[in-house]
Amino acid sequence: MRRFCLLLPLAATLSACIDIPQASQASKRQSVQRSTSFASARPEVRQCLADLSATRANFTPLPDQYYGAGCSTLNTVKLSSLRSDNASLGIANLGPVTCPLANSFAGWARYGVDRAARQILGSQIVRIETFGSYNCRNVAGTSRRSAHATGNAIDVSGFVLADGRHISVLGDWSSGTDAERRFLRVVQDSACKRFGTVLGPNYNAAHRDHFHLEFSTSNFCR
Ligand SMILES: [Zn+2]
Repeated sequence: MRRFCLLLPLAATLSACIDIPQASQASKRQSVQRSTSFASARPEVRQCLADLSATRANFTPLPDQYYGAGCSTLNTVKLSSLRSDNASLGIANLGPVTCPLANSFAGWARYGVDRAARQILGSQIVRIETFGSYNCRNVAGTSRRSAHATGNAIDVSGFVLADGRHISVLGDWSSGTDAERRFLRVVQDSACKRFGTVLGPNYNAAHRDHFHLEFSTSNFCR
């Protein structure tokens, strides 16, 4: 894998680092096409991508796609890694996410999760585990499209620490040590300050094993 850093002519401050597999020429061409659409994107989209780049996240802007039936991925990115205060943060199992959601996620990972882990658990975070993001489906038990159907929500299932510990929502929300249980509540509370909708184990049984983090204009935290 080779790191490719791009400085775009239409926005002098806008740069992005994109990981390109060296073996694949087709992949290189695809990245150039994506970069072209990146440069010609609307100003608010370019600003969002610039903000995300400033967090030192590694990501690839994805082409807009409509899948029908109310499902689409517009203004989305594929996140490869995020940045904490002093290290790279891996992300497991994450698909396309909208750029504003990616920005909230990057801030939460650094300030809400990693700093809480160091304070409460005495070790920094090396990876955030998820159940994914985009998924063309309804909110369970309704006929309403889920925020996952537009890549506007991430389901976070656990955290891996530098000392090797694995903290999971399912295993540690109720059964972890005092510190682990406190850590999970603190990271949910800090998520509520950054995402419009946050659902966790206290909300219902469907969320017993993950935090649902959704970019929305509501203020719903359970
Ligand atoms: Zn969810």
